[in-house]
Amino acid sequence: MAKIEIIKGDITRLHIDAIVNAANNSLTGGGGVDGAIHIAAGPELLRSCKLLEGCETGDAKITKGFNLPAKFVIHTVGPVWQEGKTNENQLLASCYKESLMLAVRNNIRTLAFPNISTGIYGYPKPQAATIAFETIQAFLINHQQIDRVICCCFDEENLKIYRELYDKGIVAVRVFSPLAIETTSKLAEKIWHEHYVPMIGIEQVSYMVNSFQSVKAIGNQINNENYQYYIIYHQSEPAGYIAIKPMGEELFLSKFYIIQEKRGTGLGKKGYDFISKKAKEFGCKSITLTVNKNNINSIKAYRKFGFEIENPVITDIGSGFIMDDYKMRSRLDTD
Ligand code: ADP
Repeated sequence: MAKIEIIKGDITRLHIDAIVNAANNSLTGGGGVDGAIHIAAGPELLRSCKLLEGCETGDAKITKGFNLPAKFVIHTVGPVWQEGKTNENQLLASCYKESLMLAVRNNIRTLAFPNISTGIYGYPKPQAATIAFETIQAFLINHQQIDRVICCCFDEENLKIYRELYDKGIVAVRVFSPLAIETTSKLAEKIWHEHYVPMIGIEQVSYMVNSFQSVKAIGNQINNENYQYYIIYHQSEPAGYIAIKPMGEELFLSKFYIIQEKRGTGLGKKGYDFISKKAKEFGCKSITLTVNKNNINSIKAYRKFGFEIENPVITDIGSGFIMDDYKMRSRLDTD
């Protein structure tokens, strides 16, 4: 289900649970979207804001919406752009995250954000949009109480940037919560059936899904075995998943799958770029994986990413099933 919407318009007109205000530290009103919200909400908003005694940059506070069609206003204070020298990225991400947390705490299910900090505060728009988009997406995956988040763009330039991000964007989001684990397990079941049944038959696939990608198995890998799972989102929909495990100088790529209907959209390449980036962050010098010998397409795709076959690996996975794989390795340039 798509949860993020990009629209162009005046945020003060939206009939939703809450709108977010790009406020300043004093919370006593200002120009831009802040001024527009105070005018539309009426003087009671200012009275209510004064009781909050200001707000730190990156934090958020809530009031009622008064004369606005929205029930609540979440006031957050974005950072002033200072050439990226004052932690602006973290502070901007924090604005989105804290606003969403306040929304969850107040049972708000639909909310709209303006393009925080991209007006008077001078943040570069493409960078602000990327942070906004990724932070919102990441939050939604682990908090399924929220139904809809609107990115309300006021100017054409922001609208174009957000649309592009939405269309082309891939976001890989770390899996932590039980709900996200359940989503991953469901994705695994769908993908493994699509992918492996023609290769190894339904019996073995069902056995493998139940043993290795059940909610319990994934939870155990994440919590006890040092695996990191990521869901790959495309246009706000789960499109695939990745599981990696750092092992000294080598990153073991345990799972990397894209669902059938999202193939050919460039997600494979983007997913692989994400994996290489992670490998470098861990200080790994190569990425290894095992792939079924019959899986000609995947072997071809991995070759394109720079993987080479090292040796055959035969694994007894129990219940009379055997995995007949190759081990492949890709060395990373580490300069
Ligand atoms: P900041 O100080 O955080 O930069 P601004 O209000 O100056 O806050 O700008 C934030 C964004 O809000 C800008 O992209 C601006 O175009 C947009 N904006 C201004 N008025 C509205 C409005 N009525 N609805 C939605 N967005 C608006």
